[in-house]
Amino acid sequence: MLPLNLAFIAENGLGMWAWNLSTQERTLGDSIFAFDHISNESFSHTAIALEKYLHPDDRERGDSEIQALLRDGAQIEMGFRVYRPSGELVHIKSMMKVFRDDGGKLIGIHGASIDITEFKLSEEKLKLAASVFTHASEGITITDPEGNIIDVNGEFTAITGYSRQEVLGKNPRILKSGRHSPAFYTEIWETLAEKDHWRGEIWNRRKNGELYPELLSISLVRDTTGIITHHVALFSDISHIKEQQKKLEKIAHFDPLSHLPNRTLLRERLPLAMHQCLRSKQSLVVVFIDLDELKAVNDKYGPHVGDELIIALSQRMKETLRENDTLARIGGDEFVAVLTGLETNNCTSILERLLQAVSRSITVGEVELKISASMGVTSYPQDNSGSDLLIRHAGLAMYEAKKVGKNCYHVFDLEHQMVEDTRRENIERIRSALQQGEFVLYYQPKVNISKATVIGAEALIRWQHPERGLLPPAEFLPLIENHPISIELGEWVIATALSQIAAWQGLGIYIPVSVNICASQLQQTDFAKHLQALLSAWPQIDPRCLQLEVLETSELDDVLQVSKIMHDCIKLGVSFALDDFGTGYSSLTYLRHLPINLIKIDQSFVRDLLINPDDLMIVESVVGLAKSFKREVIAEGVETIAHSAALLQLGCELVQGYGIARPMPARDIPEWVANWPSDAGWAANNLMYRNDAKAISEATNTG
Ligand code: C2E
Ligand code: MG
Ligand code: MG
Repeated sequence: MLPLNLAFIAENGLGMWAWNLSTQERTLGDSIFAFDHISNESFSHTAIALEKYLHPDDRERGDSEIQALLRDGAQIEMGFRVYRPSGELVHIKSMMKVFRDDGGKLIGIHGASIDITEFKLSEEKLKLAASVFTHASEGITITDPEGNIIDVNGEFTAITGYSRQEVLGKNPRILKSGRHSPAFYTEIWETLAEKDHWRGEIWNRRKNGELYPELLSISLVRDTTGIITHHVALFSDISHIKEQQKKLEKIAHFDPLSHLPNRTLLRERLPLAMHQCLRSKQSLVVVFIDLDELKAVNDKYGPHVGDELIIALSQRMKETLRENDTLARIGGDEFVAVLTGLETNNCTSILERLLQAVSRSITVGEVELKISASMGVTSYPQDNSGSDLLIRHAGLAMYEAKKVGKNCYHVFDLEHQMVEDTRRENIERIRSALQQGEFVLYYQPKVNISKATVIGAEALIRWQHPERGLLPPAEFLPLIENHPISIELGEWVIATALSQIAAWQGLGIYIPVSVNICASQLQQTDFAKHLQALLSAWPQIDPRCLQLEVLETSELDDVLQVSKIMHDCIKLGVSFALDDFGTGYSSLTYLRHLPINLIKIDQSFVRDLLINPDDLMIVESVVGLAKSFKREVIAEGVETIAHSAALLQLGCELVQGYGIARPMPARDIPEWVANWPSDAGWAANNLMYRNDAKAISEATNTG
């Protein structure tokens, strides 16, 4: 068998060979062999070796074709693939011719091979291009440089309805929808000229006249010299995408039940309306509408009746508004109307109509219903807020309308809101101050002037403000009055005072501390429990070291209840003082009902004690009262020796005030206690008023 030895590929792509079968002479033509190890001499040997370079799939076919040629053929032309030693696969076309003698006996064979790889590859590319063209899911239009259609694919026909024959030679203009301006097309051509490419959405017309949107991409094809040879346009029909988009937009922007704009669309429209309003120097009104009894209707008749009601009321409310106004449904029973070109004071009639639209009775199925709406109103730019805040403000006003009895509207009060906002900000600031540890307790000693002993100290809160310095309680406590944070702060005060008592105790100093508590803290039903928890953190402290000062001015809602709480606390070991006594309206009631240990005469009576006989009388009476009720009594705001002397004469031994010491940081207390009374003369002088020799000697010996 002759081996397939025809794989000699010249580097120039051509190889020739001959084989004289009678002489067994073999020659390779004057080609330059790719297999440079092959020479004429080795031809016969390499023939077999070369077989292995053939692509395995081509071996059998090649072999049988050659066998047929040798048997009874004259010449054949065959193609096959060969691997070059480098591994590269090349396509070969080979021609072979056999020579026979007159008797038909084979005498020789020669052949030529040519490398057709390049050709094969471009042939495949063309095949691929053709297949893409035919099978593309996009419509394709190819035009010549003048814009005449030279080919279209099947999808073109499927989309436009025109057959290939109908459009060949025509201009794609035949598809024009008439929806775009000439400028639109000019822009396409300008972009093409500049970038060789344009892509965008365009409306075209089908053969049946129907308009449709398409996504179109046009490219210019240039030859190697840069001259435009073709325009290729690819397009797909995007009508279904557009439809889908529309549906989605509807879902995203409209309430499916009432078909009114939803919150999202309102959020888009309101800023636009506000903008327009400013431009036209007009006002607009935002109305927040909440149906008053929808829940009851749902509960009683079922949600489908509720739904019907919403649909009907939406319609009614919409009818009361003008064309340019917006009514949106932003929640179950919540609507927002935006009325343009109006101010709050001249929209009264629309508001009344809206209220009536809702409150007129309405029949849903078998049921006759009658509900109402509460509405809140704010106007822009009088309420110069952002769109979200405007809605919020109208919403807050709506709650006011609910509070005053529904079926009415309330106009948002900006000033009141600003006060509220400031309060909220203040509270937040104080909350963070508490977290940041910006509060401190100062301590003001309380003394027994007669015995010259320190009987305790009052803890007074201060705010070590990073910017404003040390702030007294009057600067911040009123801001949190009746807010839960005041209770949190109150607990911090007690905890801090307890830890201070423990710290002093560690230094060998025993100082009872009184802390001020606000009414809301004391009135918590579980106050005693809280106090117990705080105390149990310091088991080494005798609870008798802690006294709680209740302001006489604090409005205790239920004195008996408070009394009970106080008794519970007293069981824990703590005691109570009634602070600022004489300044409120309920001095005697409190004195009678509350388990008070100590009465603190308010400083306002003490201040003018020496010059105002009325004040003197009051102080004297309070001291008497305390004695009758068997309570202790202390005078606050004692600023001078003369004051304390007078108090002593009136029978009030316990005093507290700048005259003794100002409130000071905890760390200064031990030294102060050790040195008081530093000026023994002060004490002695003072005590002389009482002419009490024993007390004088005691005082001068102390400290
Ligand atoms: P308060 O309980 O009657 O405390 C006495 C106030 O009078 C303190 O003012 C004190 O510095 C001041 N004071 C003491 N001696 C004199 C004096 O001789 N002359 C004058 N003019 N004033 C004197 P402060 O510290 O500004 O406290 C004011 C009020 O704030 C307190 O009155 C108390 O009602 C409240 N307070 C203070 N700390 C706390 C606290 O931790 N919790 C609560 N809830 N209230 C507190
Ligand atoms: Mg006090
Ligand atoms: Mg006081």
